[in-house]
Amino acid sequence: MPNPFLSLNYEQAIESLGPEYYDRVEAARFPQQKLRFRNDKLLPVLGQNPESVKDDDFIEAFGLFESINPLLALRYHGYQFGYYNPNLGDGRGFLYGQIRGIDHVLYDLGTKGSGQTPYSRNGDGRLTLKGGVREVIAAEALFAMGVNTSRCLSLIETGESLWRGDEPSPTRSSVMVRLTRSHVRFGTFERLHYFQRPDLIEKLLVHVIENYYPELAKEKDAFSLFYAELVKRTAQLAAQWMSAGFCHGVLNTDNMSITGESFDYGPYAFISTFNPNFTAAYFDSTGRYSYGNQPDICHLNLEMLQVPLGLVIPKTELQNGLLHFESHYYETYSSLMLGKLGLEQNIKTDELVQKTRDLLLETQIGYHEFFDLLAKEFNMSWLEDSSNILENTGFPQAGIWQDWRIIYHHFLQQLPLSSRKMIKAKLVGNNPSNVPVRPLIESIWQDISEKDDWNKFNELIKSLQGRS
Ligand code: AMP
Ligand code: MG
Repeated sequence: MPNPFLSLNYEQAIESLGPEYYDRVEAARFPQQKLRFRNDKLLPVLGQNPESVKDDDFIEAFGLFESINPLLALRYHGYQFGYYNPNLGDGRGFLYGQIRGIDHVLYDLGTKGSGQTPYSRNGDGRLTLKGGVREVIAAEALFAMGVNTSRCLSLIETGESLWRGDEPSPTRSSVMVRLTRSHVRFGTFERLHYFQRPDLIEKLLVHVIENYYPELAKEKDAFSLFYAELVKRTAQLAAQWMSAGFCHGVLNTDNMSITGESFDYGPYAFISTFNPNFTAAYFDSTGRYSYGNQPDICHLNLEMLQVPLGLVIPKTELQNGLLHFESHYYETYSSLMLGKLGLEQNIKTDELVQKTRDLLLETQIGYHEFFDLLAKEFNMSWLEDSSNILENTGFPQAGIWQDWRIIYHHFLQQLPLSSRKMIKAKLVGNNPSNVPVRPLIESIWQDISEKDDWNKFNELIKSLQGRS
């Protein structure tokens, strides 16, 4: 059987835009290729039966980089921690190919850790194995929690020794392949503004709308409608991160997708307790990208995107588009938090969501443990008497716990009979018990780094994928 990755019906959407947007590059040659992860859940999207795709097919395509496409390092700039950086671009990855899924959606296959490019600056173009493992875990966990995220198609260990300031070194190397809606970033547009090229901005906008917002393509004011829709998708994404208890860590404009999808997981963390000031990146000394700042930063990044888009879209239309950010954010956030509490999405319960946040903040009980406990402990007696709620868990029957029980009880009681039967299923469905907080990831990595034991990693992935 021929390698399916070498005979897929790739589309040249980016390439056909012309050479202003990318550079042709070659992949590094690695001393070794060991397939550590293949995402069989994604193969059907590409029209492939997992059983007929061999491990060697992954190695050939995504370790040795046999390809029927030109490999393209995409050009972009971006605001990093608030400062404009014109020395960016795909420095350790490239676009391997673009393929239309069986859902008719155009996807990018992009690499991370595949070698140096014109944008590597002083970097080695490599990805640590730990970095690859962490990105696979983030994406699968976020997907299981309903977040609009890219996912990893494969992770191959490549047999090199890397030196990093933030990992005990030497450390192992890998190359990862990501399946995502698009690698066009806010920073892709910012670069074109830097070079004052409204023509290229317009061309890229047409491309983005045709491929990722096709329902708008025929509208007369498609450009401003696109921006309004991006505002909506980005606000929804921020709400998804917040309810999932996820801190991306590095929300620079080059890490913001033009499709509103979450991607590029570096020093991220799932929060342990509800703490808006929590920062995931050790180098984020001012807390710019803290957990609680994420909605504001997304808003700010969208506002900054108005600068390049303003070269071709009237400024007032852009400003109007951004006005709806907050309402989109709160609508999504409330409905997701209600889901985590096992309640109906259409109940108006801002008060309950706020009281739950107060409880989580004041008690500093584990964020994920709290919702997991609700899912595990829930029984119908909670609807009879508020003091039955979490009664076996040792939490006080007074103070903030009791205040919260009373209001939660009140909202549980308001549910119509038909919805009461669904509370448990909602609680279980919306609250995974295996959220990969840092100690879990570190213990997975310890087994890999000390014993080359991948069992815990494989078990976590299996249980996360079992939920979706
Ligand atoms: P990131 O923090 O992964 O979003 O990367 C920010 C920028 O640094 C991007 O332009 C990357 O391509 C580049 N970069 C990060 N790590 C490396 C590396 N090891 N070698 C070359 N470029 C890198
Ligand atoms: Mg990045």
